[in-house]
Amino acid sequence: MPGEAFHKCLTARALVCAGVPEAASFDLDCCCYPDYYWGPRRAEAEPYMYFTDGIQFHYPPHTPVEDFYRYWTQGEDGPHMIRFRPGDNLRHVESGMRFYIEKAVCLLRRSERQEAWKYLGCLLHFIEDSLFGLHALEGADGTDLFVLDRLSGREVAKHLAELPPDESFSALSVSPRILSDSIDEAVSLLYARYVRDGASSRRALFDTAADFLYGASRRTPEENEKIMFLNALSLATDAVATVFAIAEDRAPFVPERRLAEFSPFAYPIGGAGGFALRRYEEKGNDIAFGVNCEAVLLYAVPRGVYRHFSAEVRLEDAGPLVLELVNGGVCAEKFELAGDIVRPVRLDAPGGETGFRVLSREPRGRIVIENGVFLK
Ligand SMILES: [Zn+2]
Repeated sequence: MPGEAFHKCLTARALVCAGVPEAASFDLDCCCYPDYYWGPRRAEAEPYMYFTDGIQFHYPPHTPVEDFYRYWTQGEDGPHMIRFRPGDNLRHVESGMRFYIEKAVCLLRRSERQEAWKYLGCLLHFIEDSLFGLHALEGADGTDLFVLDRLSGREVAKHLAELPPDESFSALSVSPRILSDSIDEAVSLLYARYVRDGASSRRALFDTAADFLYGASRRTPEENEKIMFLNALSLATDAVATVFAIAEDRAPFVPERRLAEFSPFAYPIGGAGGFALRRYEEKGNDIAFGVNCEAVLLYAVPRGVYRHFSAEVRLEDAGPLVLELVNGGVCAEKFELAGDIVRPVRLDAPGGETGFRVLSREPRGRIVIENGVFLK
């Protein structure tokens, strides 16, 4: 919940870092439109607002992690998951990102740069809110803004909402990275970064909350603020660089993407007792999770972008079990796996709900997915 001065400071840095030549001519008020909508400048901001199910692209629903362990039923042959649909966070955030990127790219191509900037400013506001300060508690795997108040009986949200960004941040720099040459892929990759960088900011924010509550934290509040600021600046810079590069047809073609560049909308989680067997880990492009009776690792992959997906699947201390390869929301192939063998897998034309579903009689062992690559 950073204030107007913060948004303008971070946005100005992002425009400079992204190398936008006429950055100084853009009216920085535009990156405050989502907040202006709630105040006396509503009429000015309203034409640029985007809503999904009546919710402004500003305060999207988080995905409750309990969705991953709450919806189970007991069958004759053991427990089954009864729900692993994409959460509302993915739907709301991807939809908003797509709207603003498409608008900005379209207007830039028509040389309506000041008008394009108004839409891009709204996208940057969302990124900045999500990765710096109190709103970092929300997001894909987040929670509501007041959970720490309820748990502690103290006014933690108020404290976190009033974090003053250090003046030295206005001199920080990052290198721009163009996410993609296509809007579809850029939206997926931007969303994945929002999830991962948001998780990093959330941990930094929680560390500051621990300092406020108990005077015990791993880093100083200033160090945590710098982590959040750099997360926000880096993603805002990449979003700006990507929009301008796509509009100007100079984004490089990248022939392949690693699985870890995307963010799963459903994944096994860790926990105590039997749930510990489902622990989910990412290390580089290797993804591992414990085998439960049923587990899913699913991604929302842009359609019509990739020729095929390949990976190697390895079992550790598990099996026999059934592994399903999911493409477009349906099982494309399934086979039995047993022992510590490495099994190459391949999906043609992956798109939509894509990934893995594991069915096992015993909640035992671990699955490792290595070298997952989408090829164009
Ligand atoms: Zn805001």
